[in-house]
Amino acid sequence: MKMNPYGDKVIGKMKTAFIYTDAYLDYDYGPTHPLQIARLKLAYDLIKGYGLLDLPSAQFIPTNKAEEKDLLFFHSEEYLNILKQANEGHFVGDAYLYGLGPGDNPIFPGLFDWSLLLAGATLQAIDFVVSGKGEIAFNIAGGLHHAMRSRASGFCYINDPVIGIMRLLSRGKRVAYIDIDAHHGDGVQKAFYGSNRVLTISLHETGCTLFPGTGFEYELGEGEGEGYSVNLPFPPHTDDEIYVWAFEEVVPELIHVFQPDITVTQLGVDTFYNDPLTNLDLSILGYERVLKRIRDLAPRWVALGGGGYNISNVARAWTLAWAIMNGIELGEELPEPYLEEAAKMGIEEKELKGRLRIPLQNHGRENRAEMERVVRYIKETVLPKVKS
Ligand SMILES: [Zn+2]
Repeated sequence: MKMNPYGDKVIGKMKTAFIYTDAYLDYDYGPTHPLQIARLKLAYDLIKGYGLLDLPSAQFIPTNKAEEKDLLFFHSEEYLNILKQANEGHFVGDAYLYGLGPGDNPIFPGLFDWSLLLAGATLQAIDFVVSGKGEIAFNIAGGLHHAMRSRASGFCYINDPVIGIMRLLSRGKRVAYIDIDAHHGDGVQKAFYGSNRVLTISLHETGCTLFPGTGFEYELGEGEGEGYSVNLPFPPHTDDEIYVWAFEEVVPELIHVFQPDITVTQLGVDTFYNDPLTNLDLSILGYERVLKRIRDLAPRWVALGGGGYNISNVARAWTLAWAIMNGIELGEELPEPYLEEAAKMGIEEKELKGRLRIPLQNHGRENRAEMERVVRYIKETVLPKVKS
């Protein structure tokens, strides 16, 4: 085993797994698409550059493809057949009826293989934690939370969080799903809307101003699942303070009452003030506070990636997240090999968290009042319905 600079600082006997392969780079949504798969390699480079894959507590697991039967737990056979045909990279028959085509969900060579890979990594993360081999696993390629049973949506062809949670349910587990992507986790919410064995909690920019236009606080589940879908829709320009306050008011109590066996999280980084697709004003400091709380709340934790369209943010935030999962405090200075790679991609940040450059907005008072209303609604109407 290689020596690493954190060896003597690792606390406890927590075991973690990082799932990754460079094979992700064989696939490409296209030169003008906002989801650049190269961001995964950049995050991996930074994690490696900090020595965070050589920790005695951490295991590196190379990604294996999922099997088609794993996808059938959630997706329809006819939809998977369309994805398989589209795997050649050409437009096929009724593909547009399934959400495929120019725009958000382009048809590119290997799109089905790409989907099998990222879903495979999620299942490897799930298996690592559910088997008791370790407590925490991270699949940065996962978290494609918009895909529906028979429809691609929002850059997502296969819904790996749903497939992973379904495997946990098949092992008799109760699951909390926490989604901190800027977009509402609509595909996951919909899949478990009638279930009281999966508690979905999504924190996101309000559907009034952002895709997919859902995720209002009054979407709270149905039938047995009433109360088990929780939504915190934030107004544009919500900052760290309001976001963390609302998280603290609602999420710890929900987890405490529900008592999940395992927590699955979608850790999208598109909430940051300089993300090109969204309107929230979070920073890496708010993200860090939330991740540290999740670590306290989720002793058995499967972490998935998600959105994030400023790739410097993606690399730095997911490195910070992986450090938190391993109980490590990182230095501010980014390691040299990473800086060289990042410079080639036009990235200028030289520090992990850096100095804040959030443009001042005058929405603080209005945003706080709106979130006080949402939090009150959840406490009065949703929380009392949740049982352990
Ligand atoms: Zn997103």
